[in-house]
Amino acid sequence: MFSLKNKTALITGGASGIGLAISQTFAQAGATVHILEINGDLARQVADDIIANGGQAQAHTVDVSDQAQVVDLIGQIAAQSPIHILVNNAGVAHIGKADTTTEADFDRIFRINVKGVYNCLYAIIPHFKANGGGVILNMASVAATLGLSDRFAYSMSKGAVLTMTLSVAKDYLTDKIRSNCISPARVHTPFVDGFIAKNYPGQEAEMFEKLSKTQPIGRMAEPQEVGALALYLCSDEAGFVTGCDYPLDGGFVRLNS
Ligand code: NAD
Repeated sequence: MFSLKNKTALITGGASGIGLAISQTFAQAGATVHILEINGDLARQVADDIIANGGQAQAHTVDVSDQAQVVDLIGQIAAQSPIHILVNNAGVAHIGKADTTTEADFDRIFRINVKGVYNCLYAIIPHFKANGGGVILNMASVAATLGLSDRFAYSMSKGAVLTMTLSVAKDYLTDKIRSNCISPARVHTPFVDGFIAKNYPGQEAEMFEKLSKTQPIGRMAEPQEVGALALYLCSDEAGFVTGCDYPLDGGFVRLNS
């Protein structure tokens, strides 16, 4: 079940946290994994590690917010072999309300979290159409539907990721392109550790505990748990699943009352 043998998958932000777990899980399932990363050195380490463990991987340095770079890179990969799966995972966080979010921060969050996803869609969809189909998986967040407090720009950006997921599912249904997203609550990754270290210096352990308890299940998710759901959604077994937003949230959305 859930084999990705003979599939080629692109994973943005695939060298850290959730993206790292997806790269490793997909490689273990037999996919050739292309890691699209702004941190090229880290991507090369991850690809080398996957290859050392018998998998197939290539690292690419790219800023997903730069359309010319993305179009050029995806064109080069597509010239090597057909691409079957795109995981739009790269994203950055920001703390702030409407009146405490600077224009520069607003633009940065939208450039990476929204335009970055659009750029990859723009580049891959013609290729998927020419190849008779493909699978898109976007990393949204519980913030997309809840509008988390003090996460003004971040929540909006993830709302856009959710609506892009739905628009693409509708527009390319007859092209056999499936489009879904996962909406995690807190996942224990460098993204969360960095957030705690930056905003609560000296209170790291206490804040980790507090944030863990905001999930009714009493802990954060592990990146591998997101990787397992991503594997299912990108596999042929999920062939009937499109236009869906999958919560992976330890009860955060529905049980927190
Ligand atoms: P992370 O910081 O550990 O990893 C993100 C990766 O994206 C990094 O390797 C980084 O180098 C890469 N990246 C950042 N900007 C890029 C760019 N412009 N071009 C290419 N690569 C870029 O983060 P994570 O926690 O694994 O989060 C991954 C995704 O999951 C993000 O979209 C995030 O919003 C989403 N998410 C995370 C959580 C969580 O609690 N960790 C919860 C909900 C949603």
